[in-house]
Amino acid sequence: MNISELNREREILYSGHSACPGCGAVLTVRHMTRTLGPDIAMVITASCWSIIAGMPPLTALKCPILHCPFPSAGSVGGGLKRGLIAKGHLDTTVVVLAGDGGTFDIGLQALSGAAQRNEDYIFICYDNEAYMNTGMQTSSATPYGARTNTAPYPLFKEGQKKNIMQIMAAHSIPYAATATVAFPDDMERKLKKAKEIKGFRFIHILSPCPPGWGAESSDTIHLSRLAVTTGFFPLYEIYNGITWKLTSPPDMKGTPLNEYLDSQKRFNKMDQIRRKALQEEVDHDWSCLMDRCEASVDTD
Ligand code: SF4
Repeated sequence: MNISELNREREILYSGHSACPGCGAVLTVRHMTRTLGPDIAMVITASCWSIIAGMPPLTALKCPILHCPFPSAGSVGGGLKRGLIAKGHLDTTVVVLAGDGGTFDIGLQALSGAAQRNEDYIFICYDNEAYMNTGMQTSSATPYGARTNTAPYPLFKEGQKKNIMQIMAAHSIPYAATATVAFPDDMERKLKKAKEIKGFRFIHILSPCPPGWGAESSDTIHLSRLAVTTGFFPLYEIYNGITWKLTSPPDMKGTPLNEYLDSQKRFNKMDQIRRKALQEEVDHDWSCLMDRCEASVDTD
């Protein structure tokens, strides 16, 4: 069997779905389902993926899907896993898929409860940094300086992006990691690791959105890579809330943040003073992350 035949066997995402060209969230789910499938059951909360997955019999995914209301994904994931165990499906991997709105904002209460109870499933947040399927509205994952259709005057987000990874680490869950589609091997390794671990697992995946970010659909991988090499979205893992591990080489951070900002129209309202402020914030967060990684006891 050659590689393309092997990949076809593992493919449970059909072509012909309704996502925009270049959607990072589709690439995310493609990697995720290939790595975790085929015995998976998914919970999808209100998001672009509610539309992309589609309605039976025209659904884009060949696995059981439970669509749920916006705030409830965290709870529904736990219920589905427990129901599957009660029915004897002990090995089915339950995956909850939510955008940043269903994770950082509307979904946070149920997510926090599930993490605190250490429910046995994988929560995947595909983060496109706004509520994209309702017209690119600001979310608490939207970075400082990004323009959205609901940002108040002067037409861009004023506050910082919420640090969801620190919030998840504070729950002492067994495993949390960041990933992007520009580093598929890293993403695959983290998904495999998450599959091996019992209890609550959280993967935060930066997923570029060409229309929302004001970028070419062919730039999705380029932007995902720049997000890492500028230090804007570092790649790392957290075990049990205490062991932090950088998974990209420390010398990979070196690209000026302006290169990332200039590649997207959503940042075109930022002047040099604000860009400098964001660069300082990125550098500060990076140095805190390095301190955490260096101070961590390796329990892996
Ligand atoms: S709006 Fe953005 S996140 Fe939603 S389907 Fe289109 S590219 Fe993907």
